[in-house]
Amino acid sequence: MANRYWCGECSFKTPWRGEPEGLRLQIKHYAEKHPGTPPGGQVETRRRSSGKRNGYLLLAAVVLVLLTVVAACPH
Ligand SMILES: [Zn+2]
Repeated sequence: MANRYWCGECSFKTPWRGEPEGLRLQIKHYAEKHPGTPPGGQVETRRRSSGKRNGYLLLAAVVLVLLTVVAACPH
C-alpha cells in the first residue's frame, strides 16, 4: 500500500511512497515552502495488490477453459 500526500496550501503532492517516507516529504515541503504553517492537506491511498489479484483471476479462467477443452477431447 502506498500513500500520496497532497499539500493543503498549494498544488504540491508527494510521489507515491510508504507512510513514513511520504509524511516526511510532506513535512519537508511545508518547512521549505510554507514555514510556520502546520502540515495539512489530504492523503491519497493506493492498494498495490489489486492488479495482482486480477492476474490470478485471469489465470484461473484460462486453466478452467483448458480443462474444459481437454475433457471435451474424445481421446
Ligand atoms: Zn505547498
